[in-house]
Amino acid sequence: MRRGLAAGNWKMNGTAESLAEIEALNAAHAEAGVDILICPPATLVARLAAVAGESIAVGGQDCHMAAKGAHTGDIAAGMLVDAGASHVIVGHSERRADHGESDADIRAKTEAAHGAGLVAVVCCGESLEQREAGETLGVIGAQLAGSLPDAVTGADTVVAYEPIWAIGTGKVPTITQITEVHDFIRAELVKRYGDEGDKVRVLYGGSVKPSNAAEIFAVGNVDGALVGGASLKAADFGPIITALENA
Ligand code: PEP
Repeated sequence: MRRGLAAGNWKMNGTAESLAEIEALNAAHAEAGVDILICPPATLVARLAAVAGESIAVGGQDCHMAAKGAHTGDIAAGMLVDAGASHVIVGHSERRADHGESDADIRAKTEAAHGAGLVAVVCCGESLEQREAGETLGVIGAQLAGSLPDAVTGADTVVAYEPIWAIGTGKVPTITQITEVHDFIRAELVKRYGDEGDKVRVLYGGSVKPSNAAEIFAVGNVDGALVGGASLKAADFGPIITALENA
């Protein structure tokens, strides 16, 4: 039985005043029956870790593949650990698009995350053109094959399926489409990692909100969500956490 994970990706949003949202989440979900993760911008990781309490884990949104060195503006996985993080998102489609990250880069970042003791939340997802061309499963399969290291466990890796066309658009795949991709990801994980592949949590991401969370969480191989916009306010993220608890 995989424990649910409600993960928030704040992207390039949030300043000190946003910490009040974490305090509100903490107060309402101190005894949550699921795992809660917030990935704020790097500037807030340490401050958020200081107020997050036992029930909320903190993650980075990216890490470099090297442990240290001349990489201006980048952050090493060990630095995230030092700041209080336990997780890191790698391979988000916005990083793939804005920074030209390849599957090989993402694999190296995932290995760096594991080496530092972080849980890697590895993202994959197809574009609208790829979906319309019937390429979705091929694209996801290739991203998983290229982005995941050879040694993966349910404890050190989470996979997030995020169709690019659903991120921040309000468009959500049908339940049939989500089921098809999540079942496929599960099968690929089990084929490559055996029993451990069955323990890796697979999150859905893309325009999850309080109004659609319950039906998405009812899908068998959906173990939670990676949430962007609706994770910024406790009033939105709280009901998503509750929907996952009730799934
Ligand atoms: C995301 O960027 O990870 C995401 C899922 O965004 P949103 O929930 O805003 O679509």
